[in-house]
Amino acid sequence: MIKADLSKVGFSLSSVNTLIKHGFLSVMSENDYRYNIEEYEEYKAKKLNEEQEYAVNKISSSSGTYLLHGITGSGKTEVFLELIRQNIEKGHDSIVLLPEISLTPQMIERFKGRFGKDITIFHSRLSDGERYDEWHRVKNGKVKIAIGARSALFLPFKNLKLVVIDEEHESTYKSEMNPKYNAKEVAEHLMEKNQGQLVLASATPSVESFHRAEKGEIELITLHKRATNGVLPSMDIVDMRDELMSGNRSIFSRSLLEKMKERLEQKEQIILFLNRRGFSTFVSCRSCGFVFKCDNCDISMTHHRDNSLMCHQCGARKYLPKTCPACQSKYIKQFGTGTEKVEESVRKFFPNARVMRMDRDTTRQKNSYENMYNDFKNNEFDILIGTQMISKGLDFKDVTLVGVLAADLSLNMPDYRASEKTFQLITQVAGRAGRGDKPGDVIIQTYSPENFAITSAQSHDYMGFYKREVEMREALNNPPFSKFFYLVFTSENETLLMKNIQELGGVLRKHLAKYDNIILLGPSPCIISKIKNNYRWQILVKGEIQNEIALEIKNLIQNEMKSVYKDIKVSMDLNPNSMM
Ligand SMILES: [Zn+2]
Ligand SMILES: [Zn+2]
Repeated sequence: MIKADLSKVGFSLSSVNTLIKHGFLSVMSENDYRYNIEEYEEYKAKKLNEEQEYAVNKISSSSGTYLLHGITGSGKTEVFLELIRQNIEKGHDSIVLLPEISLTPQMIERFKGRFGKDITIFHSRLSDGERYDEWHRVKNGKVKIAIGARSALFLPFKNLKLVVIDEEHESTYKSEMNPKYNAKEVAEHLMEKNQGQLVLASATPSVESFHRAEKGEIELITLHKRATNGVLPSMDIVDMRDELMSGNRSIFSRSLLEKMKERLEQKEQIILFLNRRGFSTFVSCRSCGFVFKCDNCDISMTHHRDNSLMCHQCGARKYLPKTCPACQSKYIKQFGTGTEKVEESVRKFFPNARVMRMDRDTTRQKNSYENMYNDFKNNEFDILIGTQMISKGLDFKDVTLVGVLAADLSLNMPDYRASEKTFQLITQVAGRAGRGDKPGDVIIQTYSPENFAITSAQSHDYMGFYKREVEMREALNNPPFSKFFYLVFTSENETLLMKNIQELGGVLRKHLAKYDNIILLGPSPCIISKIKNNYRWQILVKGEIQNEIALEIKNLIQNEMKSVYKDIKVSMDLNPNSMM
């Protein structure tokens, strides 16, 4: 019996201790792990098709880094599972990294259903105690597989020979906190050291990774076919400028409304997707689609309260005119809508529909994500409204309609990756439609229907997208043709901050003048110019920044800021995720 329980059944602790002392009872201690002991239904191995088999054989044949490019539904997971199985047979350990939001109950079901208890699931929703236990289970060799978010890479496996990074294009693999590591780089280094395999997998590989494959630095393997033989959903682009012309000012186009009505009548499910990322304060013309962009940087300018527009990359400013410079219409305004507003509109149009909203606010509590997922899966709701949280991993067989409400939100992020993010989001969210037997429809609403990120996503054409995007990156000397070194300075004292950063900018610019392939942008205020009473300014260094140059910059900043280091904090990030 557990000692504490003895007292519960009426023995006093002092009697128990006396019995122990005189040797009538003995005390043993044993480790009891707090891991998930839920039983999972067996997830049987599927017979691999030719492409999947080729991928498995190719990857397992030699160590190195592979890029596995497979359309949604091509059965990438089945390839990972087989690689892991072979790895276990050889007595080796494996890690599969997923973005936190892809660690869906369904994904866990698959892995646990295939490999039983030999797995640790390692992510940020674990309690400290659970994390401690899982770490020790790995350390003591009790598990051979870890599935988790990027920090799972640091679990103490002894014989790690396989790392799979699924959805490799996701920005979550880069840590924005210190140490600002990139899990892909760490994994590559680990696998080189251990002579193992790193598999980067995605339906929409990052431009950086695909470029590396093109140059022959890593090996490309492509899965063209849908493993389930299902058909890709049909994709319609709706021009929201036409809606305005016809007097429709709601967030839903007429064709989306019509299709929603149809699906509700047929008792099929609908997903409405709002690709809102961070701050979307660009200004556009509802009548012609014109967006205010920086003349120097070709990224969207951000709207400020004094009615000015600013490029936060280079600091350029413009005043917002009263009419559109392209078509003279008066419909120019800030763009942006939230999931709550979408929910409100849905309820207005379809008062009887059962609506669920999934975003950061509604999923904050532990397990709420799982519960919502199950409720929707069990058809307790008709319409799911969500942010990028719902763009991936979720597999609902009754969803036959997906609406992308405003593709423009990600298309006009002030970031050189805006097109790439948009292509990825639309492709992924479209992959949520028609996963069962019924065919799916996707409707993309936008003010820029001719944009290549949208048209390529519509025709499921990754290569077409990649070719245009990489050309533009080269023309503007953006990554992968250069690096960004992002320097952020924060202080409660705005005057001190501005004075020092201007001086530093001058010194740094002078110092970097000797490198003709490096430029300095700024200093300028960050997009998020104030957080918790701290003012934020940035300097961006762009170009061929070798490690030695990064170090030079760091030393120079430390030296220049020595006298104010107590009042001004400096953050330095090479190839950051986002520059806000
Ligand atoms: Zn216009
Ligand atoms: Zn600019």
